[in-house]
Amino acid sequence: MRLIDTHTHLDFSDFDADRAEVLARSSALGVQRMVVLGVYQANWQRLWQLVEATDGLHAAFGLHPVYLDEHQPQHLAELRDWLGRLAGHRKLCAVGEFGLDYYLEALDRQRQQTLFEAQLGLAVDFELPALLHVRRAHAATIATLKRFRPPRAGIVHAFAGSYEEAREYIKLGFRLGLGGAATWPQANRLRKVVAQLPLESIVLETDAPDMAPAMHPNQRNSPEYLADICAELAALRGVTAEELAAASSRNADEVFGWN
Ligand SMILES: [Zn+2]
Repeated sequence: MRLIDTHTHLDFSDFDADRAEVLARSSALGVQRMVVLGVYQANWQRLWQLVEATDGLHAAFGLHPVYLDEHQPQHLAELRDWLGRLAGHRKLCAVGEFGLDYYLEALDRQRQQTLFEAQLGLAVDFELPALLHVRRAHAATIATLKRFRPPRAGIVHAFAGSYEEAREYIKLGFRLGLGGAATWPQANRLRKVVAQLPLESIVLETDAPDMAPAMHPNQRNSPEYLADICAELAALRGVTAEELAAASSRNADEVFGWN
């Protein structure tokens, strides 16, 4: 079974003690590629060193809305520099993680919107996919995407919206990232949506170290759990784990231009 973890934070210190072992166990379980996403300027260098030195890892760089107060105006210019310097590098795969978070009310929405649009502009300029964080902000995100229409589209990570919202993203060419959240039995509404989504629109992710799946509760999440997540989501959709792994990996290959 070949798997791709389209969303990880393997550079976080949560993995400092055993990162090599986690990577070895994940690849033994079929996880062939993993995307590591930058969230603020201060982690880009460290992230790039990790990705460059490790087979199967790919990098995305972005300014995450949850860290709004850490972002400085010059960080957008630096992001453009990073993307320009690495343009065409096989290890650079996307702009992200960025987006809109209306769940945390302390985050100023206008400043988020400005940062969101600036990074969508970079995805357009550098012809890279956009890897989006969207919480309680689907309407604003969809309206903005309709104005920018990034040519390579991208992924709405940890998708937890409605079926109608999913359809809007799909019409814009986006894939929906699914992971631990839909493995929890109490996530009824999300599980119904996941069961209905077209197979061509799904990519798998862990968001490690966050969003532990139901079969590994209260633990540090890890790409080594992706096969378990895949098996649970496949059962929910009435297909085999192999079918979901093959389809989601093919979809991820298309997003990132891998073959
Ligand atoms: Zn993330």
